Amino acid sequence: MYRNKSDIEHPTSEIISKLATMKRIYCYYCLLLLLTIASCSPKGPYALTNKVYRDKTKGYLAAIQTQLPDTLRDSSGTPVPSAWVGTVNFGIRKPNYVIIHFTAQDSLGQTLHTFTITSTQVSAHYVIGKNGKVVHMVNDYLRANHAGLGKWGSVTDMNSCSIGIEIDNNSNEPFTAPQISSLLLLLEQLKKNYNIPQANFIGHQDFAPKRKPDPGPYFPWKTLAQHGFGYWSDDVLELAPEGFDYTIALKLIGYDTSDPKAAIVAFKRHFIQTDIKPEITQLDLNVLFNVMGKYSGQ
Ligand SMILES: [Zn+2]
Repeated sequence: MYRNKSDIEHPTSEIISKLATMKRIYCYYCLLLLLTIASCSPKGPYALTNKVYRDKTKGYLAAIQTQLPDTLRDSSGTPVPSAWVGTVNFGIRKPNYVIIHFTAQDSLGQTLHTFTITSTQVSAHYVIGKNGKVVHMVNDYLRANHAGLGKWGSVTDMNSCSIGIEIDNNSNEPFTAPQISSLLLLLEQLKKNYNIPQANFIGHQDFAPKRKPDPGPYFPWKTLAQHGFGYWSDDVLELAPEGFDYTIALKLIGYDTSDPKAAIVAFKRHFIQTDIKPEITQLDLNVLFNVMGKYSGQ
């Protein structure tokens, strides 16, 4: 077999190039093999993070089984007389709110990765993929890191009293029908299990108007309200009365109005959606007046 001219002129570089190509192919197949083994393993690709989860829950179990020692002291440092007597009548605390988010990421896999590495320090109880797959990541009775700093009514530590649901969505696209269908089933179950009031299904944007835009104006709050999760305005609206104070109304619903413009935008992302400018129109006032009645009437 003949070699061409360049082969004859650069025999060494050709061999090096072929070896490099073979090495690349070998590395690629090794990686593919490792991924296949990991995904086919009976424990799956998240075996390690599942073990971390189990170990952490063991730590919390030890904490709740502790029969508290005397820790109170008066101003002079003298211990306050105290004792531990275990009651026989108690239960586990239940979540009372549901906070809905979008992931602002490009795939379910990317979000699962984000929630299984410690450097991000974020998580949610559930993540819903575009095909409707529901991934449960934190037991409902435990605290996920999803809501962060914010205020709704007088609730500031929302992570301690809520379930966080992240929906796979890049922040600038409609949610899929299978996602909303799975979400409705999940909300039904949560509402029933924990007796969560209709008003307590809100978005991250509602709880943290100064920081968060999710789940944004594409989110179908009207559909949710029709199923008993959160509220939506009536089709026919009364005119808001003369002198209607929108700041008081927003506060009454639950919004943190310390930054009024941020509160207006959050309200409009949720209840108006077609316009999210930081100013109040007559339509916004009418919707606000209508919705306020639902929140204050329960
Ligand atoms: Zn969020």
